Amino acid sequence: MKLYNTLSKSIELLRPIDAGLVRMYSCGPTVYRYAHLGNLRSYLMADWIRRVLEAEGLKVMHVKNITDVGHMRQEVLERGEDKVIASALAEGKSPQEIAFFYTEAFHRDEEKLGIRPATYFPKATDHVSEMIQVTQRLIEHGYAYEIQGNVYFSVAKFSEYGRLSGNTGEDLLEGVRAEADPLKKDPRDFTLWKGAEHGRVLKWSSPWGQGFPGWHIECSAMATKYLGEHIDIHTGGVDNIFPHHEGEIAQSEGAFGKPFVQLWVHGQHLMADGVKMAKSTANDYTLEDLEAKGFEPMAFRYLCLTARYGSRLNFTFTALNAAQRGLHRLRHLVWDWSSLESDQFTLSDGENWSKEFWDVVSTDLDMPRALALTWTMSKSLLHPKVKLSLILEFDEVLGLNLGDTQQEWQVPTSIDAQMAFRSKFRGSGDYEKADNIREQLDSQGFLIEDGLQLTRVRPKSIWEKSRKVWQEISSSKDVESLLSRPNVVDVTLGLVSCNYLDDLQRCIKGMSKLGERYSVEIIVVDNGSSDGSSYWLEEHALMDARLKVIHTDHVLGEATAKNIILKQSLGEHLILMDTSVEVTGDFLPKILGALSDKNVGVAGSWGLRSKDLRHFDEIEGGYSDAMQAYCFAFRRASVLDVDLMRESFRFYRNLDLEYSFCFLDKGYKIISLDGLPLKRHEHRVWTSLSVEEREKLSLVNFRRFLKRWGNRGDLLLEPDLMHHHHDDHDHN
Ligand code: AMP
Ligand code: ZN
Repeated sequence: MKLYNTLSKSIELLRPIDAGLVRMYSCGPTVYRYAHLGNLRSYLMADWIRRVLEAEGLKVMHVKNITDVGHMRQEVLERGEDKVIASALAEGKSPQEIAFFYTEAFHRDEEKLGIRPATYFPKATDHVSEMIQVTQRLIEHGYAYEIQGNVYFSVAKFSEYGRLSGNTGEDLLEGVRAEADPLKKDPRDFTLWKGAEHGRVLKWSSPWGQGFPGWHIECSAMATKYLGEHIDIHTGGVDNIFPHHEGEIAQSEGAFGKPFVQLWVHGQHLMADGVKMAKSTANDYTLEDLEAKGFEPMAFRYLCLTARYGSRLNFTFTALNAAQRGLHRLRHLVWDWSSLESDQFTLSDGENWSKEFWDVVSTDLDMPRALALTWTMSKSLLHPKVKLSLILEFDEVLGLNLGDTQQEWQVPTSIDAQMAFRSKFRGSGDYEKADNIREQLDSQGFLIEDGLQLTRVRPKSIWEKSRKVWQEISSSKDVESLLSRPNVVDVTLGLVSCNYLDDLQRCIKGMSKLGERYSVEIIVVDNGSSDGSSYWLEEHALMDARLKVIHTDHVLGEATAKNIILKQSLGEHLILMDTSVEVTGDFLPKILGALSDKNVGVAGSWGLRSKDLRHFDEIEGGYSDAMQAYCFAFRRASVLDVDLMRESFRFYRNLDLEYSFCFLDKGYKIISLDGLPLKRHEHRVWTSLSVEEREKLSLVNFRRFLKRWGNRGDLLLEPDLMHHHHDDHDHN
């Protein structure tokens, strides 16, 4: 098999060190959270490599480590950055229990995806003594040094450092500057062992005192223990290349004095909404999330087949939907071909197809071509039984468990009996009775397929059972812009809502009472809710024709969701509000009054003033520098002038500043109206976040805002830029 080697930057033929045996190591999961689909994509890549090798008749010894508690990333855990961990600890669960829970979840995920279990799943905490041994050897060989109970790898001593990632010299210094550990001799040096600070619970004894191992050392130690000092293949995601794998090479080659890995294979990222899928960017999905939406995990495997492992793959539910359908059709073919009576056929007719398939998969794992070939083969003129044999052969690598279809699509004998009645009724022309049986079977979860020659019944797939009654959109591009259409109502009230049904209900109830003097419509973007909001909105919309609901198939960024409202609104005036606000009286006359002045671009209830663009203070009333999102009103026609919102603002915070400034920039004024009958309640979207999350998410947006408007003090009512703050802003 040929694979792209990150080390040599070329496609290489694998020549196992020991004939007939391949030793493969894959960087495994960190088990203080569920694996997200991105992680799973990288395990799928390793699974496909392994399946090709096994199909070639090689034995694969596969190690996938479990990074459990106790190493450097423990820091993350203890700072309570992860809400799941924080709440588990608060519930009195130990880190070990948490690790156990997520390890089990990880094994279940792999099984659902048809990933063959590794030969060994070593846990980091079971191998601390091996890590200490490797560290000791590194000190003996002069590659590592100890300072005050910490041991560091001396990067300058290892001349090959940087060969894998290309990260050497100055670039490297850039990358590590933030870390600044004063004990290191060279800022590039990385930690092999860290002394335990006072009060630390998870720690081990070592020649250097109580402490815990660095992150990279775990993989060097466990790879060597189970696979030896020189291994064939090492896999991981591209984000592992530096520093993790660079560190592994330095450690293993430093300690054992021989090449560590023949072939380094790295999987490109799974993306979502244009950025790498990760927990920290809140665009991560788990297999459970997919199942909750009625998808099968296997559909995700199919989706991953559609891209080369070396290419990024953008995850969307639209694509997953197509994958689910593709998977279903393949199963259907297997069902069709296997239910046919066999007559004469020659299996060797499929040999050329087979040869081509194996060629494609063993040439750097070209799975998209392998899948395309599978489809072409299925449409060829081969005998169905030959096709069946081929598709089952291909599935040894594809791994979609297509062979299970025959069994899974079988129906109980009671269903067969009902089918017999149905055909009797149909034969005698009693179609009403026949249709009744179809409906009965349908409600029992079975589907009748009437073919030209054959009538068959099968269980409905999970997907067919859970088909939603409403449409869902995936991005603002999925809706048409009505912005240049004439006004239909006086006011569009717009809301973006994600969970917190109580708040949503309170807000909509208040809005529903409006409309005496002015005609209104209410547009709600139900932004990926999972708490039943979607159902309540659908029901409410049936009763109130002025309510229009747009469901999204996942949580879209705030600006994207708001743009959907902007594009779909037909009111002369648009009032964007927040579900934490309660409408206690008719506030429309004052708002519309303010907006009747064409110099005013934005009106609302809670305005802000700033002197320096860094600090924004809430004001009682009057001209403002910005309007907060709780109630943000403007003429719909202005959108054609100031444009839609910038969709890079995924988090809501500071998007209101940004959009306010778009208005100021076009010469409009912003006015805050005192005493409107509106009441602010707890803003649960904000209060549900941890302090760290708030800071991080706000800051990202505030930087975006400053980058564009930071030198536009001229737009402020009373600029006082002398008194310039460089620290963080109040409005964060
Ligand atoms: P972690 O649990 O963070 O150690 O990650 C486990 C594996 O998933 C590593 O090999 C990562 O490189 C890989 N990985 C993380 N995020 C992604 C992503 N978005 N797409 C593909 N692989 C990823
Ligand atoms: Zn690793």
